[in-house]
Amino acid sequence: MIGLISATAAGAAARDRLAAAWPDRTRVYEGPVGEAVRAAFAECEQVVCFLATGAVVRLLAPLLGDKAADPGVVCVDEGGRFAVSLVGGHGGGANELAREVGDLLGAEPVVTTATDAAGLPGLDTLGLPYEGSVAVVSRALLDGEPVALEAEVAWPLPPLPLAAEGRYTVRLTDRAVAPGEREVLLRPPSLVVGVGASKGAPEAEVLGLIEEALAEAGLSPKSVALLATVDAKAGEPGIVAAAERLGVPLVTYSAEELAGVAVPNPSDAPLAAVGTPSVAEAAALAQGGELVVPKRKSERADGRPAMATCAVVRRPGRGRLAVVGLGPGARDLLTPRAAAELRRASVLVGLDQYVEQIRDLLRPGTRVLESGLGAEEERARTAVAEARKGHAVALIGSGDAGVYAMASPALAEASDDIDVVGVPGVTAALAAGAILGAPLGHDHVSISLSDLHTPWEVIERRVRAAAEADLVVTFYNPRSRGRDWQLPKALGILAEHRTPATPVGVVRNASRPDESSRVTTLAALDPATVDMMTVVTVGNTATRDIAGRMVTPRGYRWQEEPK
Ligand code: SAH
Repeated sequence: MIGLISATAAGAAARDRLAAAWPDRTRVYEGPVGEAVRAAFAECEQVVCFLATGAVVRLLAPLLGDKAADPGVVCVDEGGRFAVSLVGGHGGGANELAREVGDLLGAEPVVTTATDAAGLPGLDTLGLPYEGSVAVVSRALLDGEPVALEAEVAWPLPPLPLAAEGRYTVRLTDRAVAPGEREVLLRPPSLVVGVGASKGAPEAEVLGLIEEALAEAGLSPKSVALLATVDAKAGEPGIVAAAERLGVPLVTYSAEELAGVAVPNPSDAPLAAVGTPSVAEAAALAQGGELVVPKRKSERADGRPAMATCAVVRRPGRGRLAVVGLGPGARDLLTPRAAAELRRASVLVGLDQYVEQIRDLLRPGTRVLESGLGAEEERARTAVAEARKGHAVALIGSGDAGVYAMASPALAEASDDIDVVGVPGVTAALAAGAILGAPLGHDHVSISLSDLHTPWEVIERRVRAAAEADLVVTFYNPRSRGRDWQLPKALGILAEHRTPATPVGVVRNASRPDESSRVTTLAALDPATVDMMTVVTVGNTATRDIAGRMVTPRGYRWQEEPK
């Protein structure tokens, strides 16, 4: 029973909503708050107080005993904005209750227990069908008990803090097994069922055949991802209805496509009828995978010829590579989408200093593969190789991961056997531009002055072209200990086309704790003050220093009166 206690009118209104939603689970305690809390604490497994946490802490303090036996207590504030799990987070189920109450009242659940705060994904929220003791195994995970992962199929799961062995198990399988007492079965959508049917084949015959084929092969219908057939059968009622009953989409291929798929059991009948020697096997195999049930025909009680065929293929899990830009440094310049991708990945690949920047966002169980400066090719290869194994991988880079960063070497390695997702980030030029004013208000380029992988002649030609085209230029990798002449040389080229008074913005560690910036001029800039943590933005011939801010006009006619 959940005891409900409130003191104010607003609290009572929220309390009544809860009581109305859960009439059998809740009991309202009226009367003086102190007595109500004492009574509810003694009589209920859980308590929800519509009171300030301070008041509840004072009332509970003398009552607290053993955390395994005490009720779980949740506090909801007067505004109904937060549902705070106060005591008994795990043992008393207050964390879960805070979530439920939050869902019901539209309040944010506030959970401060370590594993929950780090955000273990619920086994029932992974997007996969599941069977078994979700509550028991989730509780074990939350209590830090070893829970073993038995993956019979590679699938890009989010991170789960799972061990090689344990009393509890999470089993990823498409086989028709029953879950053990301390086990959760996750069903990956790994099976593709190819079906063929003659005109007018009854639904029961098609569905019966599929169910029989799966059962005899020991496969779970919950792992069926889709039915596949030939275009000509896209509207065949028995097939359409079978897909509906299984709750999966129906995918169709042209006879030509299917004729091109090598199958073990071709035959003449479908060749004559629809123009391909195989429908069921070819449609099941069209996207690749391993044939686990070869073509079989339905059996009819009346002895008339079979009207349906089916075949089953197990397809490999497709890995997922997210290439994620972390932004220039500040946490609030890291996009919510980037944060979500970091939590979605079970393998994180990146430079050690970037990993440090976001380690607190990772879920427990994330495998972190960090490496030092350089080693870029190796990082790219590692990330792609992990995705190919079927994992969900995040490859991170500062700023935007596609700008002088890891996306290019990684995608050069990747073939179409993995899914790739890019998450844009705020690149240094933009972070610096916002600090300097509006230097990028008209056409602009970025040029990296690093001649490690690019011959200097190429860099110089591009600087010259930018100078002649009067483009605003942002220099990345402007200067390091071993590379000190490139920046003065590049500035010299720009100075051939721009006056000495041209504004130049220098931003070091944009958005990081030791950020610094200044607006100077082409003539006054001392290259020795620039290092690898810096970008240098040189204005075009129209850029002005206005009140210490760098401003490049939108266009020369922008502010004229319209004709
Ligand atoms: N992918 C990154 C760029 C990597 S190249 C991005 O999109 O920003 C590395 C160079 O970027 C550094 O030498 C420096 O010139 C620039 N840079 C990256 N972060 C910076 C920051 N916070 N402040 C200033 N410059 C930065």
